[in-house]
Amino acid sequence: MKPRVAIIGRPNVGKSTLFNRLVGKRVALVDDRPGVTRDRREGEAELIGLKFTAIDTAGFEDDDAATLPGRMRAQTQAAVDVADVALFVVDARAGVVPLDAEIGRWLRESTTPVILIANKAEGRSGESGILDAWSLGLGEPVAISAEHGDGMVDLFNELLPLI
Ligand code: GDP
Ligand code: MG
Repeated sequence: MKPRVAIIGRPNVGKSTLFNRLVGKRVALVDDRPGVTRDRREGEAELIGLKFTAIDTAGFEDDDAATLPGRMRAQTQAAVDVADVALFVVDARAGVVPLDAEIGRWLRESTTPVILIANKAEGRSGESGILDAWSLGLGEPVAISAEHGDGMVDLFNELLPLI
């Protein structure tokens, strides 16, 4: 079985953009029927020849803000539990917000290895957010742009020893 890599983080940080970059059109499991939970999407990913199953955690866009943290926790936990590695994505442009810090605390309690990713870091606009991400206590953030493809070699170098 291929290693499983879960992409987690609060809404809008670029998880699905990263998933799509890694998986391309090789999505194994998508269900667009209304009412069917799409909390998890899996696909066969490839990064510079490194092959793994990527898990996108998704689908909170329509949710009520009051119930979001609880549902996110359950989903994040479920994805992290089945994963060999978790990619924890934060938005380098927005910096660290309280929900990121909370997810960071859950992850520090988990035994699954975590790679911290500061996304939207193209150009210089993400610099302060990248520094900010150190405060999560999960080591050095890997600066990437999921949209533009920057930082993929750095991500590969972090992932390689873990899967
Ligand atoms: P998710 O909710 O975490 O899955 O986030 P999405 O992948 O849906 O992306 C949320 C928004 O961020 C979209 O408008 C994306 O186009 C944008 N986005 C994603 N990656 C990047 C990036 O690397 N740079 C910039 N500037 N925007 C990005
Ligand atoms: Mg998404």
